[in-house]
Amino acid sequence: MAKQERLQACYPEMGMFQTTIIREAATEGIGLHTGVYGHLRLRPAPADTGVVFRRVDLDNFAIQAQGQNVARVSYATSLMKQGVLLSTTEHLLAAIYSCGIDNVYIDIDSIEIPILDGSAEPFMQMLESCGTRRLRRKRRYLKVLKALEITEGGRRVGIYPAAEFRVRCYVDFSHALVGQQEVEMVVSPETFRHLLSRARTFCFERDIAPLRGMGLIRGGSLENAIVLTDDGVMNGPLRFPDEFGRHKALDLIGDLALVGLPLLARVEAYKAGHSLHTQLVSRLLADPSLWTITTRPEEDLSQPDTPSALADPSPYLAPAAD
Ligand SMILES: [Zn+2]
Repeated sequence: MAKQERLQACYPEMGMFQTTIIREAATEGIGLHTGVYGHLRLRPAPADTGVVFRRVDLDNFAIQAQGQNVARVSYATSLMKQGVLLSTTEHLLAAIYSCGIDNVYIDIDSIEIPILDGSAEPFMQMLESCGTRRLRRKRRYLKVLKALEITEGGRRVGIYPAAEFRVRCYVDFSHALVGQQEVEMVVSPETFRHLLSRARTFCFERDIAPLRGMGLIRGGSLENAIVLTDDGVMNGPLRFPDEFGRHKALDLIGDLALVGLPLLARVEAYKAGHSLHTQLVSRLLADPSLWTITTRPEEDLSQPDTPSALADPSPYLAPAAD
């Protein structure tokens, strides 16, 4: 990816004010894990609503896209409130969060967000057709003041002070087409659209039977996931040579959306997944000494970034090739 794109500033261009969408947009499709078919509609929402899912099949029961509603997390991120579940929120939330949409209702009549083509591109197209409107209320940012790191086995995730929202995501799978891949970028609607939104979810052929045995990927197909065989890909071509690393970064942003406010922070994930991502969100929100809420993101930009345990000068940490 071009250096210019990686260094592109995010929030200044998105303004000081909260946003919502202008027009409604709808889509429908099967859920990846449950196999349940659902209809989804994005609707404008007033200032200070946040991103709110509404189960229209359950009297518009509302589930806020926030850390306290994270439920079980394994191969997808699920939200649960008072026993009402909503699965696989990460791709839609990644698109909404990257586009700087602060307030939106997501009306859905099923238990799982449609997987569509396995990427966030269809959601980006919906958001583009919706348009964005500025509201007369200042946007509040969550600005990270102190680092927080979580390590689990050989996996790590960390969040550090920064003047803008940046992510760095590293994956390592022992597969000829994957191997070590890394993505690093400032998150903005443009960088997300160009670098991440088209990257699709993936799984290994050898995992399909065990996952089905666990009641997962009942809606999975060659149309909504890349399937990796022992030495290749079953349903190529890939959209990017490093589509897997890009998709992991997409998932990371979708899980960070559960912070509930735009972030001023740098997040690094090393062989992490939904479980570590959402633990980071929960532990961050649980410790207010780590952050402050500000409506003035441009202040204190002189604060230096904190070096992290992931700052490793090894060659595979070069930016991913486009
Ligand atoms: Zn995903």
